[in-house]
Amino acid sequence: MRKFLLATLVATTLICVAKGQQDPRIYDIIDSVSATRIEADITKLANFGTRHTLSDTISETRGIGAARRWIKSQFDQISSDCNGCLEVFFQKDLIREGDNKRIVKDVWVVNVVAIQKGRKHPNRFIIMSGDIDSRVSDPNNYTSDSPGANDNASGMAGAIEAARVLSKHQFDNSIVYVGLSGEEQGLYGGKGLAAYAKANNWEIIGVLNNDMIGNIKGVDGVVSNRDFRIFSEPVPPTETEEERRARRFYGGEVDGISRQLARYVHKTTKEYMPEMNPMLIYRLDRFGRGGHHRPFNDAGYAGIRIMEAHENYTQQHQDIRVENGIAYGDVLEHVDFEYARKLTAVNAISLASIGWAPPAPNEVSIGGVVEPSTRLKWNPVEGAVGYKIYWRDTTSPTWDHSRFVGNVTETTLEGIVIDNYLFGVAAIGKDGHESPVVFPNKVFR
Ligand SMILES: [Zn+2]
Repeated sequence: MRKFLLATLVATTLICVAKGQQDPRIYDIIDSVSATRIEADITKLANFGTRHTLSDTISETRGIGAARRWIKSQFDQISSDCNGCLEVFFQKDLIREGDNKRIVKDVWVVNVVAIQKGRKHPNRFIIMSGDIDSRVSDPNNYTSDSPGANDNASGMAGAIEAARVLSKHQFDNSIVYVGLSGEEQGLYGGKGLAAYAKANNWEIIGVLNNDMIGNIKGVDGVVSNRDFRIFSEPVPPTETEEERRARRFYGGEVDGISRQLARYVHKTTKEYMPEMNPMLIYRLDRFGRGGHHRPFNDAGYAGIRIMEAHENYTQQHQDIRVENGIAYGDVLEHVDFEYARKLTAVNAISLASIGWAPPAPNEVSIGGVVEPSTRLKWNPVEGAVGYKIYWRDTTSPTWDHSRFVGNVTETTLEGIVIDNYLFGVAAIGKDGHESPVVFPNKVFR
């Protein structure tokens, strides 16, 4: 009888997981994100006058020094509200005058880091970043008013709010909430934290970089509080010549680790926030422009940029002024706090889902050359209750087909010809949370 019950229980669990079990805690997280608190934080940040990387660090009310101390005080407050669940610290690097044209004097580039340690895998990190610094028309003008309300107080406020909400839960993997500095002067903060992560042997699952998540009125005339973009590069810049060569024969041109992370955020949003319209953008960043996920990509880590879909260039990197009847400047009035709340929720549920998911299988091999079926094998993952095989048409951006195959380490997809699809494997945890999909990194015959 007992055996029967256990078998039934296991079967029921597997069926739930297979169906794509929804975790009610994810809906609680969405409901807990507050537009009011995000508005208060963006307002506070904008009111530091300027947060330019080279601005004043002594004043308590103006400049980047005051801003970063305030951000740290927020993380400290959140931590004391959860019995010290966050480890909060400044991570800094000295950048010397002339390092590039935008560093006109020696400056400490100081990031504010808050780590919520994972219970099972404290050394595995999923990171949400925003930026502390702001700029006006002249990138080296560090004294003029530069509220940077959307660019990027919105992303910074989102990271603080995500910490408030997620610190009420405990996760298996570590979650990092970070304010990066030096973005406008040359992506220095991201470079610094990526180097810090390398030096400390962090296993980074991925970086969700938020840069401008508060504007809904585009320069293109489109107004949408539902569209947003997820930028990801196709394959890592650190790949080897051998990997590049193998791609010609086995595929993977659009299946790098950052792209899988982008698909993960896309899928999680579609599942839990179907009112939103995530757009997978198949490029590192906007045309010729940059953001703080890039230094992490440069270091070989998965990283994506989450941002509004419809930008307004009269409100970015501009001196505050009126010209030909157009009001220029990145001021508070243009930020839609409700939209920033939605994109913060998108981040929070993605962080939570990955935070609760088991690691992805580190090795996935594929076979089925000149055979009627595709075969997959992978290394077992500790803590996984099963695995899901994903596949899609070679022209599709999303993993459209899937099959839960239970707690095994190999499977055959009968009648699915290897030539006609792309394949991947994800590990599934007990609450149904999935690892990012792993594209096969080995071939067998
Ligand atoms: Zn900017």
